[in-house]
Amino acid sequence: MNLTQKTGLETRELFLNGEITCTELVEAYLENIKRDDEDLNVFVTVMEKEALEKAKELDEKRERGEALGKMAGIVVSIKDNIAVKDVLMTCSSKMLANFVSPYDAVVTRKLKDADAIIIGKVNMDEFAMGSSTKTSYFGVTKNPVDPTRVSGGSSGGSAASVAADFCAVSLGTDTGGSVRQPAAFCGLVGMKPSHGSISRYGVASMANTFDQVGVLAKSVDDVHYVLSILEGSDVRDATCIGNESLQLDKIDEAKPLGELKVAIPDIFKTFDVQDEVRGALENTMAYMKSQGAEVEFVNIESLDLAIAIYHILVNGEIAPNMSRYDGINYGYIAEDYSNIEELYVRTRSEGFGTEVKRRIMIGSYIMSMDHSKEYFDQSLKMRHCMIEEFNNVFETHDIILCPTSPTVAVPIARDMTPVQTYMLDLFTVPVNLIGTGGISVPVRFEDSLPVGVQIIPKKSNDHQALRTAKELEGNI
Ligand code: GLN
Repeated sequence: MNLTQKTGLETRELFLNGEITCTELVEAYLENIKRDDEDLNVFVTVMEKEALEKAKELDEKRERGEALGKMAGIVVSIKDNIAVKDVLMTCSSKMLANFVSPYDAVVTRKLKDADAIIIGKVNMDEFAMGSSTKTSYFGVTKNPVDPTRVSGGSSGGSAASVAADFCAVSLGTDTGGSVRQPAAFCGLVGMKPSHGSISRYGVASMANTFDQVGVLAKSVDDVHYVLSILEGSDVRDATCIGNESLQLDKIDEAKPLGELKVAIPDIFKTFDVQDEVRGALENTMAYMKSQGAEVEFVNIESLDLAIAIYHILVNGEIAPNMSRYDGINYGYIAEDYSNIEELYVRTRSEGFGTEVKRRIMIGSYIMSMDHSKEYFDQSLKMRHCMIEEFNNVFETHDIILCPTSPTVAVPIARDMTPVQTYMLDLFTVPVNLIGTGGISVPVRFEDSLPVGVQIIPKKSNDHQALRTAKELEGNI
């Protein structure tokens, strides 16, 4: 097997055993990038020089017999809304197209401290709003499995970077499915842990009560390993309390497949789900039953409203978050203006793309004095009802199982209305609404494009999702 097709833990092992150098590893990835990235459009910034320097440093450290960090031998890409000191951080927006981050995000610092090699910053939907990378100022990222299709989004560059063998692991962010859905579209494992597991310091906010950093990789073990390094409370992010259930040894405390009670939301029966996705989920259910799990359908009434509640609440948080991009504090500034009002209007009209503007407008409307009671407050109440309803399911079931996305990767040429696009997030947004974790695992269905099934554990029981994912991986 080609070196670049291996998982991160495999390349680490080879490096630690002295079978490869980090320099040859990075060079192999760079060769793939130079060959394929012009077509796929994965990277916003390739950090060739920095990656080679870090590789050399690690090779020398090993030579001298010095201690090596937990990420030594693992090459990582980072979504372009996560800060890496002295490197462009564009959020794939014209607004930040020239913005260089003056500091590292906490997750970046943790990776660097653990001796990870960061190979570059990758494309995404503008400010993480979207499901395809089509809203990126830099254009769509093609799916390496089938380049006529999208790689998903918003962390489409993250998924494509791993699927195209440009690196072993990628950091993404997930506000309503942006780690899990691109992982599913590209045949990878992707996990968003429970809200509050990982610091958001240095991550550009989309909707703070929904956003969480996640990891995409070729195996559950890789995802788990990196999450265990990133997890931990942080004084600079008051919502971040850490999550011990992500630690490696906790997996033994989770239930094995044979003892599981699995709930499938019955909306799956009536929702418009593509045949291959339905087939893959049915195969997964059959496999689980064959291993002794109890699998049953449950009614979760609030799911009918999940998309509506999500978009009201998320846009309500997006609008104020985007107000900081005003031409003065950060990034783009319009060339022509004669007063401060015009400076704001022109900068924001020229700097933001259509999807971002749409969300700012909807968000400002529903948060206005006249409408917040009607929309925002009602949706907040519904969010709490939803948490209660899911908690009731978790009283009697260990996990919820559903497709990650109702479709396989969508053709790039297919035009969809915003609402059609939003509807495809039905199975991922509830996880962010209730603040729990979710992992997407690739499952095969005959010779279809990649399909992912999603495992949702009770909040802060992420070890259960990881264990079940590990038991399903490669078996369906
Ligand atoms: N597709 C969803 C949206 O457009 C989720 C985005 C995300 O998770 N960042 O809102």
